[in-house]
Amino acid sequence: MINLISDTVTKPTPAMLEAMMQAEVGDDVFGEDPTVNALEAKAAALFGKEAALYCPSGTMTNQIAIKVHTQPLDEVICDQHSHIYHYEVGGYAFHSGVAINLLEGDQGRLSAEQVEAAVKPTFDWLPKSALVVLENTCNRAGGSYYQLKDMRAIREVCRRKNMKLHLDGARIFNALTESGNTPLEIGELFDSISVCLSKGLGAPVGSLLIGDRDLIRAARRVRKVMGGGMRQAGFLAAAGIYALDHHVERLREDHARAQQIAGVLEQLPFVSQLRPVSTNILIFDLIPSITAARFLEALGQNGVKASSFGTHTVRMVTHLDFTDEMLEKVLEILPRLF
Ligand SMILES: *Cc1c(COP(=O)(O)O)cnc(C)c1O
Repeated sequence: MINLISDTVTKPTPAMLEAMMQAEVGDDVFGEDPTVNALEAKAAALFGKEAALYCPSGTMTNQIAIKVHTQPLDEVICDQHSHIYHYEVGGYAFHSGVAINLLEGDQGRLSAEQVEAAVKPTFDWLPKSALVVLENTCNRAGGSYYQLKDMRAIREVCRRKNMKLHLDGARIFNALTESGNTPLEIGELFDSISVCLSKGLGAPVGSLLIGDRDLIRAARRVRKVMGGGMRQAGFLAAAGIYALDHHVERLREDHARAQQIAGVLEQLPFVSQLRPVSTNILIFDLIPSITAARFLEALGQNGVKASSFGTHTVRMVTHLDFTDEMLEKVLEILPRLF
């Protein structure tokens, strides 16, 4: 099977497994796992921040960020496609008691003007706009990424309006691969950053929350109350260190393969619209006579998996375990489906 459902489907490479097997470990709830500590220090330094926190998932790092940046009755401003809104079980309400102020961005990207206009005035009957969350790349909008100047302008609005700024950077390295910006430039702009190691970077488990020391100290307590304090997590953290050392540069290969698939999809008579492909995610609409279910069934019969993103919409994601041989096969199968 060729699996294009998500970049989360990857398995550790033999070299990554070897690094995991060699990890020196301790009890991370006591802060005594040297490999977890090394991963956290490495991630913090990479983004020019003081500290980081290793967590089981990106949902947890985002939810911890919302919790530490807000009070109940506050609101979080984000784009309508945000992962924190759609795919985190409504955790912002459950954990933090906050409302969401959803904006209609440009393919998942907010503008500073939009954010500024969305900030609520101070009245007893309104939630308080306390936090802005940007997603880069934006998953549900097809892997779009921000220009640095646009993020800077939003930072400036947050400063003036006394709001915190969090980055859902589940795929930040995909964004940086294309924008050419550095992690340091990103670190400067955000109060906290969530990075997934288990997406394009190919680690089996784990995400990092990155920020200043006080924020991470508070975040550690929230991680614990969420049940996310892990013991000898160094075996997993070792995969994260390996991923940061070896799997960042190669993301451009995933993007190049996505472009090749895009080139074929554009030509297909049963594809009505392909959203702009910027990184490793392809989202496309099918003509009215072909549903996503029918398309996925035909694709599946040819040994390829993708996912439905609506009744006539399909998503494909390229990743570490999707090779050139598999790409050739996909390029050959697609035109023959219908
Ligand atoms: C995957 C993802 C997350 C975190 O997901 P987990 O599965 O909980 O690790 C957060 N934000 C975005 C944009 C994602 O794609």
